[in-house]
Amino acid sequence: MTGVLDDIRITGVVGFDHTTHRRKFIGRNARRDVHGSQATEPVIRIFTDRELDGVGFGRLTPAEAQGIVGKSLAALWDLHSGARSALGRADHALFDLVGKATGRPAWSLMGGEGPEPVPVYDTTLYFSDLLPEYAGKGVGRLVEELDGGLRQGFRAFKIKVGRGAKWMDAESGFARDVEVVRQLASAAPAGVTLMADANDQFGLETARRFLGEVGEHLWFLEEPFPESAAEGRVLREWSGSNGIGTLLADGESQHDPAVLLAIARAGGLDVLQPDIRALGLALQCGLARDAAKLSRVHLAPHCWGSYLGTFQMLQLARGIAGVMTCEIDSMTSDLFDDADWVLKDGFMHVPDRPGCGPILREDVFRQKYLPGAWQVGTI
Ligand SMILES: [Mg+2]
Repeated sequence: MTGVLDDIRITGVVGFDHTTHRRKFIGRNARRDVHGSQATEPVIRIFTDRELDGVGFGRLTPAEAQGIVGKSLAALWDLHSGARSALGRADHALFDLVGKATGRPAWSLMGGEGPEPVPVYDTTLYFSDLLPEYAGKGVGRLVEELDGGLRQGFRAFKIKVGRGAKWMDAESGFARDVEVVRQLASAAPAGVTLMADANDQFGLETARRFLGEVGEHLWFLEEPFPESAAEGRVLREWSGSNGIGTLLADGESQHDPAVLLAIARAGGLDVLQPDIRALGLALQCGLARDAAKLSRVHLAPHCWGSYLGTFQMLQLARGIAGVMTCEIDSMTSDLFDDADWVLKDGFMHVPDRPGCGPILREDVFRQKYLPGAWQVGTI
């Protein structure tokens, strides 16, 4: 493989903001106001002296990108750890490029140890009951959204909770959270899985109370409080001694993999949720290898508000062992064709095409995105 990579040189890098559209309007969570119906992500595209390019999520400055111009692909790639370059954690586009150069999908570069298709869940059940336009429907609006997700092909759903932290008084908010989980659990067909996410706003006591009320319906509880080995262990032990099987998930804000692993090792977590964008793919693979050595620890990478991040997360899930599920913030893009990524019965088909994923539409790139982009080197 290195022979091919020796012969290909980077000539230039382009960076631009890619705007995508969600399938529905997303309301508040426990911490933030409405998220809206579109998202913007920074993207980099790497050009070479061949008819080959790589594209991926990447938060970079032109000066950082300049660090790889003129280099061969072999100088930027390590067979064991993946990308090693001035791009640091912004390595998604390199996985795409090396995959295309070697005729291998990114999941194959990562080891190809995960499942195909990949288990996924709908992560978009926010506080729609609190949106003024659904005031008349209340919790019924969330049941409608569950039905919409089922029609889309999902069989697992994560429900935002923590209304009492900011948007309702504490007791009414807690009661609404419990009502939402119960109504969705009774509306969901057999075999559908539910999870909940409190965005760090419950605290240990409310987390225990919440699981006491609805833990029987929840596969995992995410971010009941900021990740903590001590509090996590207390909650897990309390759940265990009360016959509650809900797993404890956390880690989207923790960008040091060593800290996440230490919390898991100390018994403070069941499910690690490293952010796909913040860590990059090489670091995610390394974290997965280390997590595999710990018994009973699962991975469920975090990806919110990034179209390309979602596909790169799915590549990771098919590439490494130990990913229990992937969150999907469903979006559409005018720049990419993703028609052969098919969601069915709770699983996403991850194609065998070389590189990372969706196919860039060159005409849209040239007309809409290139004029406002930054560029180093030649493309
Ligand atoms: Mg979360």
